[in-house]
Amino acid sequence: MSDVNPYQSLRTQIDEAAEYLDVSDGHVERLKNPERILETNLSVEMDDGSIEVFRAYRSQFNGDRGPYKGGIRYHPEVSRDEVKALSGWMVYKTATSDIPLGGGKGGIVIDPSEYSESEMERITRAFAKELTPMIGVDRDVPAPDVNTGQREMNWIKDTYETIENTTEPGVITGKDLSSGGSEGRVEATGRSTVVAAREAFDYLDKDLEGATVAVQGYGNAGWIAAKLIYEMGADVVAVSDSSGAIYNEESFDPVAVKEFKRETGSVVGYPDAAAELTNDELLTLDVDLLIPAALENAIDESLAPEISADVVSEAANGPITPAADEILSDDDVLVVPDILANAGGVVVSYFEWVQNRQRFYWSEERVNEELDATIVEQFWNLVEAYEDRSLPSLRTAAYVVALERVLDASDQTGTWP
Ligand code: NAD
Repeated sequence: MSDVNPYQSLRTQIDEAAEYLDVSDGHVERLKNPERILETNLSVEMDDGSIEVFRAYRSQFNGDRGPYKGGIRYHPEVSRDEVKALSGWMVYKTATSDIPLGGGKGGIVIDPSEYSESEMERITRAFAKELTPMIGVDRDVPAPDVNTGQREMNWIKDTYETIENTTEPGVITGKDLSSGGSEGRVEATGRSTVVAAREAFDYLDKDLEGATVAVQGYGNAGWIAAKLIYEMGADVVAVSDSSGAIYNEESFDPVAVKEFKRETGSVVGYPDAAAELTNDELLTLDVDLLIPAALENAIDESLAPEISADVVSEAANGPITPAADEILSDDDVLVVPDILANAGGVVVSYFEWVQNRQRFYWSEERVNEELDATIVEQFWNLVEAYEDRSLPSLRTAAYVVALERVLDASDQTGTWP
């Protein structure tokens, strides 16, 4: 994994897209910088009575199209620049999906596996207390990201509602169903990744039935993508997690692999694996579809020339560095960019927010159909921009379309000084 600064990657991606727009340097510079960042230190009592201090961030990147929206990540490598990048990608993701939200992101520098559930609850509630003045249903609406899920979202909602003396489920998304969550939210990110891949195969006139697929990362995004693409008739020949990768040309049953990982903590050691691989070996397998679903910078310029997949659908945020992206584009690898391919999480978060505000809840079927329709419509919008404007990649097309939408909103709202 490369150590390319993800915030620099974001800036480069915006610069590249801005070349195709008639826009001033100042306008572009504004859209490359967050509006504000909270940086705080949480002092929390541990189970043994000691106090530990955790660095935490919330970046509100841009709110011209609506309330800031984006997840909260718990990881030892969370940093100010990573949070800035992730919050910026959210702006371009909500704009690419054309939902009326801006972009934000937050995180705590922590390895959650080292703490008990009650410690995690106190840490999360301490963060929620810091977040409360800056979040709100019309202000900033957090959601889950790496190592956070319904449990953390419920704690944040409860802390916010207690301080504000209100009931406002729409202050956060990715909640448990009984706390106002949406049907289909857990599967949404993986679902958009495979819907986008399905459309990309259609665009290339390739058959998904029997296509070979490799999935890097077997967390929420990766395992659901594996399950859904398998249900569409593809063969999931390789999957991985942070411990390594497994391979079988006959296709794994993703549900059985998930069950094994739940029991043992890893996909590695799965009895039906014909071979064990490194993560880099998985990424360079000669497959029809590659789904990077772990962390950013998984594919850098040293690995890019070895990528053999025809289509890459990015479930992770920023898994391909800009230098690698150029190589893949030259090699005619069709990359469906993260800001569309993994937008399912935020699109269904948006549906959750809408349902919370209406106090009226949709069926899972309706959520999945609306998500499918959103991704299909926006995928073909990107293809149109890519072809009509002769853009170098679908990623550039996504940034061009998204930048135009954000710039339009900024013009309309008179956000410029
Ligand atoms: P997760 O914590 O559930 O899973 C992450 C997975 O990646 C785990 O299986 C972990 O073992 C694996 N992993 C970590 N480092 C790895 C490495 N170096 N090599 C291989 N595997 C590695 O997280 P998630 O929610 O599935 O998120 C994964 C990616 O998808 C992140 O980039 C996240 O920002 C993005 N994403 C997630 C959502 C969502 O709704 N969950 C939405 C949009 C984007």
